[in-house]
Amino acid sequence: MKRESIPLIDFLKEFKGSLLILTHENPDGDALGSAMALYLFLKKKGKDVYVGCKDEVPHFLDFIPHSDEVIKLPDGRFYDAGIIVDASGFYRAGTEVKVAKRIRIDHHVGGDFYSRHDYIDPKAPATASLIYELIKAWDISAMDKEIATCIYAGLATDTGFFKYSNTNEYTFELARELVRYGADPNYVYRMFSERESLSKMKLISKVLDTLTLYEDGLVAGITIFDRFFKETGAKYSDSEGLVNYPRSLEGVEVAFALIEKPDEGVWKVSFRSKVEVDVSKIAERLGGGGHKYASGCKIKASSYEEALDKVLTEIRKQLQLQKIAHR
Ligand code: 5GP
Ligand code: MN
Repeated sequence: MKRESIPLIDFLKEFKGSLLILTHENPDGDALGSAMALYLFLKKKGKDVYVGCKDEVPHFLDFIPHSDEVIKLPDGRFYDAGIIVDASGFYRAGTEVKVAKRIRIDHHVGGDFYSRHDYIDPKAPATASLIYELIKAWDISAMDKEIATCIYAGLATDTGFFKYSNTNEYTFELARELVRYGADPNYVYRMFSERESLSKMKLISKVLDTLTLYEDGLVAGITIFDRFFKETGAKYSDSEGLVNYPRSLEGVEVAFALIEKPDEGVWKVSFRSKVEVDVSKIAERLGGGGHKYASGCKIKASSYEEALDKVLTEIRKQLQLQKIAHR
C-alpha cells in the first residue's frame, strides 16, 4: 500500500509528553498486536510511552511479546496524548480515558475522527498493517523479531490466517516481510489455535446446542447465555470466534452470536457474512460498527426474545435492502 506521507509520524517525532496507547475492550489479536507493536517501536524511539486496556490480556493473547506490560485501565493517570488502535473511537475503550489529545489508528469503516493526525485506512487488511507502514515510513531499522511477531499476530487473526477476503497480494507481501524480520508463522498459529482449555470446549458444546437457522437457512445464530460461563468455567474471552460456527454452514449468508452480559445489562452481538451482505450496516443501525464481513454492537433488551427480535429485524431489513433471497 503506497501512501504519500503519514502526518502522524511528524507529530510523534516532535512529541515529548506522555503517550498512552490503548485498544478496545475484549481485545483481539489485531487490537493487542497493533498496540504492542507500536508500543515497542515508540519505546525504541525513546518516547515516554505506555500501553493500556480495560480488560486483562486474555490467555489466547498472552504470548504476544511484552503483553505483561499492559496497564489495566482506568489507571487514574492523565496522559498528554492517547492513541487508540483498531477501534472506531475512544468510546470503544469501554472505560474512562484521560488524555489531552486523542488520536486513532484504525481500519474500520466510519467511526470517530479526531484530527489530521489520525491514521485511518478501511482498505488495510488489519490495523497491524498500518503499524507496519508507519514503522516502514519512519525507521525500518527499528523492526525486530518481537515487533514483527506482534504485527504478524494482528495480520494473521484479522485475515482468518490468510483466508478472508482481505487476503490479497499485499497481505502476503507483508507476511513475507514479517517472516523475514523473524515472525514464525507456525509458532503464532500454535499459540492461537492449539492452547484451548477443556472449559472452552465444554462451552462450545453448549453453544452449538443453541445453533438455529432463520430465513430458510440464509441466517444462522448462536446464543451464549451467561449461565454457560458459570456451568463450564469458561471465560468471556472464550466466546471469541464462536460466531464462525454458524457462518460455516452451507447456504448461510449472515451469522450472528448473541452474548448475554448481565454485568453491563446488555447483549453483545457479533455479525459475520460471507460474500454479499454488508453486516456493518446492520451493526450501525443497532449502535455499533465494524467491517462489511465482521461487525458488532451492544443492545439493550428486557428479555432474550426482545434482543433476538431486534437482531433478526435488522438482518431481515438488510437482506431486503440488498435484495438477497434464497437461490
Ligand atoms: P467482534 O464480533 O469480533 O467483537 O467484532 C467484529 C468487528 O466489529 C470488529 O472489527 C470490531 O471492532 C467491531 N465491533 C464489535 N463490537 C462493536 C461495537 O460495539 N461497536 C463498534 N463500533 N464496533 C464493534
Ligand atoms: Mn482489526
